[in-house]
Formats: sequence, structure tokens, C-alpha cells
Amino acid sequence: MLRFFHGPMDCGKSTLALQMNYNHSRQGRRGLVLTKHDRSGEAQVTSRIGLGLDAIEVGEELDLVRLVAARDGIDYLICDEACFYTVEQIEQLADLVDDHGVDVYAFGLASDFRSRMFPAARRLFELADEVVRLQVEVLCWCGRQGRLNARVADGVMVRTGEQVVIADTDGSQVHYRVLCRRHYRNGDLGTGDLGGAEHPRLAAPA
Ligand SMILES: [Zn+2]
Repeated sequence: MLRFFHGPMDCGKSTLALQMNYNHSRQGRRGLVLTKHDRSGEAQVTSRIGLGLDAIEVGEELDLVRLVAARDGIDYLICDEACFYTVEQIEQLADLVDDHGVDVYAFGLASDFRSRMFPAARRLFELADEVVRLQVEVLCWCGRQGRLNARVADGVMVRTGEQVVIADTDGSQVHYRVLCRRHYRNGDLGTGDLGGAEHPRLAAPA
């Protein structure tokens, strides 16, 4: 099966990815953990609540079928940050399921800061056997359910620019916030009150 679990930032995707890996490896199944642009900046899957695991960084040129074929007896893949993979790599995940009997658990954002789908996420919606919207509640500052990822530069929400800009974790000018649909659409970041959706390592907008 090819499964895609999606949700906004900080909804617990990486935590679930790590839990999934633990559950499978405990049953003696062999897996690989893959990621791209993890928040730690290393080839690791780290979660906000502090768990972490070494992972394989999915570079643009990495062929996932070859990666798995080079190892014996891989039963499953945990693919964190799959929204940042290439579309071709998503096709390779489907090949692994169909031709190599590998179970794939992909985790990622569905949409970018413009509320448009990442190409890899779109392909996962199209190909996956199962698509799950994660129910872990991330709240907007107003208390409604967080749905969309806003990019904030110098305290102002921006709607144009490169699809992928990694926020610096050390007080950079660009960061991301999860907003409800209403406040995403009208660009209201609230009063700067953190409201539970702010990444803990990112500064609040002025
Ligand atoms: Zn709101």
C-alpha cells in the first residue's frame, strides 16, 4: 500500500512517522527512513516533541527504487517531508509498492504558503491507495482549526515567491504560521499572540 498522511505544519506528522517506524521495526520488519529538509537541517527525522532518528536525505537525483534494490529485504519505507520530493520520486514510490512489495508511508504538507498543492503532494493524492488528513489539532491564533501554512516575512504575510523557502530557526526574517482558512484568506496574523500555532523556535511577528 502507498499511504499519504498530510496536515499543516506541526500537526504531528513527524511524530507519527517515527511512531510508525517504531511499530514496524518492533515486529521485525526492515525499513528505511527518508526525509528532505528536516527542521534540524540534518538528515534526520525530528519532531517538535523531541524524538529523533537518523534518516536518508532524499536529494533531487536520488532514485528510490535503486536505493531499496541495493538493500536486502526492505519491507517498508517511512518518507517524511514527502511534499518536497520530486514528482518522479513519487512515481518511484508507487513502483516500489507495485513491483517490489514495499509498504510506503509518506508524510507531508499538502499545500504551500500560497495554499496551492506541492507537485509531489498532488501526485500522492492521485496515486495513493489511502490519503489521510491528520486530525491532530493545530489551532489558529483565533482558536479555529489550523488548515493552511502562511509565510511571514518581516511580520507580514506574503503570497508570492519561491515555493520552498526554508525558515531559519535562528531568528530569521522568514517564518511560517498555521492559520485557519478565514485568517489565511484575509491575511490576519492576529495580535502577535502566539495562540499555539507558532513554531516554538521562530520569533513572533512584531
Ligand atoms: Zn483564525
